[in-house]
Amino acid sequence: MDKAVAEKFCDDLGLSKEHIAKYEKLYSEDILPAISRHYLSHIVTTVEELINEKRKQEFLAQIKEINANGKSEIDYALLEKSVNKKILRLFSIILKPVGNGKVKARSHLIGGYGVLITYWDNLEEGQIRILIAHELGHIANRHLFGNKEAASEEGLASLFAYIALQDRSDFYKSKSKQFTREFDLQIYNDVVNMCHKKNTGNR
Ligand SMILES: [Zn+2]
Repeated sequence: MDKAVAEKFCDDLGLSKEHIAKYEKLYSEDILPAISRHYLSHIVTTVEELINEKRKQEFLAQIKEINANGKSEIDYALLEKSVNKKILRLFSIILKPVGNGKVKARSHLIGGYGVLITYWDNLEEGQIRILIAHELGHIANRHLFGNKEAASEEGLASLFAYIALQDRSDFYKSKSKQFTREFDLQIYNDVVNMCHKKNTGNR
């Protein structure tokens, strides 16, 4: 931390050098390494939230019916509040690095309430992002659209990955419009190379 800033924290906010060291250590040793493993976390959270929203009404209606039939005495008001305030999640997406497996990345259903995405941890970050974006495509396909068209599933997962990654690359595009097409094609090729090459891609 800049010395002048540190002095301000100590003099103006009554903190000590130990406080600063403790929080800097927390950030650099625990938070920062964890952040770097949370690939595409905004998109992961948003897809998760959309699925939660989609499931909410159906879930609450089911509980209401169970209660009405006298089969349980669940505190409906508490449950409804927890779901509406997003304290209780009905669907979670969890990312987990693994050593080499059969495929570079894949999704595993956790009961009916979430998906665990596993991916090889020895790949480059850019490659991991592509694989995870593709797996998120599968999740959106199945749990948002309820799509059961097996034939188009892989293509749709990559379409989702392309759109998500292309959007995130906007920063680079705005620097120079003439490269737009090149960047877009590059992202498309990266997705296809990672996810559609026989025996090496993900599922
Ligand atoms: Zn796939």
